[in-house]
Amino acid sequence: MLQIKNLYAYYGKIEALSGVTCHVRTGEIVTLIGANGAGKTTLLNSLCGLVRSRGNISFDGASIMHLAPEAVVACGISQAPEGRQIFAPLTVEENLELGAYLRFRQRQQQEIAVDLKKIYDLFPRLWERRLQAAGALSGGEQQMLAIGRALMAKPRLLLLDEPSLGLAPLMVDIIMDTVVRLRREGVTILMVEQNARTALGIADRGYVLETGRIILSGPAADLLNDRQVTRAYLGKD
Ligand code: ATP
Repeated sequence: MLQIKNLYAYYGKIEALSGVTCHVRTGEIVTLIGANGAGKTTLLNSLCGLVRSRGNISFDGASIMHLAPEAVVACGISQAPEGRQIFAPLTVEENLELGAYLRFRQRQQQEIAVDLKKIYDLFPRLWERRLQAAGALSGGEQQMLAIGRALMAKPRLLLLDEPSLGLAPLMVDIIMDTVVRLRREGVTILMVEQNARTALGIADRGYVLETGRIILSGPAADLLNDRQVTRAYLGKD
């Protein structure tokens, strides 16, 4: 579904990705793990047309390199960004509707209403709070909202940037269960995480990114047992 070949990304003269090659197959949960500053967010943002990059990115066989962010969304890719980046003064429901912005313009009003209901089924907490300002939600609820907003674009590939960041363990479990459920419902997932154990616990495959390079990849179960991963990312000897 997604093929990334020899991808380089830059912030001015700083090279943040140095020849990354990886892929995601339809129906997979793939995780990208790595320490602070490894380039994980840069990779997701390159996919979304938000960072200057060179190399090759193709989605369903067609290049999405150099597409504007809204064109990437129109192709079927959407992101719940790091730090959630919800619109705090707007209500929960308005935030969700913004996720369907392109579809509103395509006059898909009826389908959007159906999908809104699906998001509320997925996250009943958001239904309870739908008329409240999003800024009043807890961290976990804001993460639900960020995922819900990304889903309102009806993506085939959902990008999640550190969905467990700053959440209590119980909330992390809820979010991870949701990711597994979304995959069952047909959404393919590429998830960036610093919390390697949690991410590898639900993923099919993983990539380890270090200073802009993939240094290791394989089935998630193998990475969980890998000595290098265990030492560097799972806090064990
Ligand atoms: P984190 O988990 O801390 O978000 P990350 O793995 O997602 O880390 P990136 O945010 O992709 O890493 O950062 C990769 C590198 O690019 C880092 O060295 C970072 O300092 C640098 N970088 C990221 N954003 C910018 C920016 N807007 N301008 C300049 N340098 C940046």
